[in-house]
Amino acid sequence: MFKITEKIYIFKKYFRNTTAAACCLLPIITSSVFLIPAITVRGPVAQIPSRTIRHRDTLYIPVAAIARAYGLTLTEENGISYVFTSHDCRLELRPGDREALINGEVVEMDGPADWVAGRLVVPIYMALTTLPSRFPPGEIDLLPPPDEGICIMLDPGHGGIDPGAVGEGGLLEKDVVLEITRKVKALLEIKGYDVFMTRNKDRFISLQKRARMANRRKVDLFVSIHANAAVNHLAQGTETFYYAPASDPLARALAVLENAVLKLEPQSGNGNARDSSPNEEKNGRLNNSIHAARSVQKQIRRVTSCPDRGIKAAEFYVLKKTQMPSILVETGFLSHTGERELLADSNYRDKMARAIARGISDYIDLWGNRKTDSSGM
Ligand SMILES: [Zn+2]
Repeated sequence: MFKITEKIYIFKKYFRNTTAAACCLLPIITSSVFLIPAITVRGPVAQIPSRTIRHRDTLYIPVAAIARAYGLTLTEENGISYVFTSHDCRLELRPGDREALINGEVVEMDGPADWVAGRLVVPIYMALTTLPSRFPPGEIDLLPPPDEGICIMLDPGHGGIDPGAVGEGGLLEKDVVLEITRKVKALLEIKGYDVFMTRNKDRFISLQKRARMANRRKVDLFVSIHANAAVNHLAQGTETFYYAPASDPLARALAVLENAVLKLEPQSGNGNARDSSPNEEKNGRLNNSIHAARSVQKQIRRVTSCPDRGIKAAEFYVLKKTQMPSILVETGFLSHTGERELLADSNYRDKMARAIARGISDYIDLWGNRKTDSSGM
């Protein structure tokens, strides 16, 4: 891997003519190894090691790596175009379009910007030549420490033998929330966060394991994504929970429903094991969970006409066992005809995902680095 990186820079050094570099470089990268090579994106802000992706007969690179190296932040997106800005650069990409806009100038790429495995990617040439020729790399010797970025664990509820809520016509909560969560992940990654998922396919994972995955990776935020159901088919709306004693009987009943899967889990009896963190840490975690819940619910409220049920406390097992700020989002009721139709619609899921991603990002901007905030709300 390292040798390939070196080759790229040797070629960059000797082939200042960009066309020559493009013709010579790519065949060497693609033909000399079985492995897809890693490269280092050298931007004015940081040097970011990144893997490359073979796609459409050329090599692509995740835009997230470019954004981190160039200090770009996703400032506008509407599902069609994605605009990244820094103090001196505005990069606009449209998935499916070969043309990018850099500070208003049209730049033709080797292939269209595209989504691959949930990542927004562009042809590698953008990182090797197009951007460096306009924004020269800074004199940066050290790679940023790998734990510098914000890490988020997204948790699509249920999966495998546990379908979660089942809507009339067979719409399953586990499928709805997996698609929404994948979209949230893609959006957060292009903002430069490290994002993990407890599951990325239809498989059963115990609540204990979900919490353990987040704790082991020491992520900064845990977000569980669900869809709701109620015996009363008129119940509707979206709501976001944080862990604390239930704020009302309905929240308590919902926690019982979402925790029901515990009976499918081996040795779930230790669910009552005590949290031994110091009180100050628990308070900080609780406050940040409330900030995160508010932030996400605020964005959801903006994109849907479904009733806003607000943020609530409830004793969800998965939130109790996580050792970081954590929230659980209920994206609507599959037992309500109107909301079931919305949640079955891919455009609506997309809207919901964008709202959740925005809410998470707003929370991180305002509160995400204050891991022991205990100052109240
Ligand atoms: Zn659920």
